[in-house]
Amino acid sequence: MHLKTLTVRGFKSFASATTFEFEPGVTAVVGPNGSGKSNVVDALAWVMGEQGAKTLRGGKMEDVIFAGTSGRAPLGRAHVSLTIDNADGKLPIDYAEVTISRTLFRAGGSEYAINGSSCRLLDIQELLSDSGLGREMHVIVGQGQLDKILHATAEDRRGFIEEAAGVLKHRRRKEKTLRKLQGMQGNLDRLEDLSSEVR
Ligand code: ATP
Repeated sequence: MHLKTLTVRGFKSFASATTFEFEPGVTAVVGPNGSGKSNVVDALAWVMGEQGAKTLRGGKMEDVIFAGTSGRAPLGRAHVSLTIDNADGKLPIDYAEVTISRTLFRAGGSEYAINGSSCRLLDIQELLSDSGLGREMHVIVGQGQLDKILHATAEDRRGFIEEAAGVLKHRRRKEKTLRKLQGMQGNLDRLEDLSSEVR
């Protein structure tokens, strides 16, 4: 499995559609300060489901949409798509090539797609989570992040290990199910109150 192409359009400094092609092996992005190197990495994190505006170095999610320059008007949407070579079947989907995409509209709302079919953010996160890719898999190591891990508390360090071991997905599902159960218990309690009132 390797990243094949990344296409950005209206994302941060990339107003026009721009496609990056990656070969297997190491890719280096070089350029002057402020030319948009980190924006490429932000685009990767974003299309893989990043939800934290701060992680993307912005104040709010809308900041990822091209904000305009002196010569070009702001755009109304940001779009990123990432094509992953899945010839080895590491992603649990029956395609040798998988394209995930994400669009954010300035007017509000987002769209996600896997191989052109619309899906939920959760579908993208789940598709990537068993492969070692994905927003919380530490595949993207930002500046200062190594320091954070070295100085983490024992509890945080356990969290990192759980993420790497793929336990996190199950923990999230468990928490979601527990919340549903609590809601259900609340409904049952209310039902019992009502039935004792009518008895
Ligand atoms: P350095 O080498 O200093 O780390 P870099 O090459 O990594 O720089 P980036 O941080 O990726 O550069 O890009 C910063 C540029 O992106 C700035 O010029 C900033 O104005 C521009 N930029 C960020 N968000 C937007 C946006 N929403 N719309 C337009 N331009 C943006």
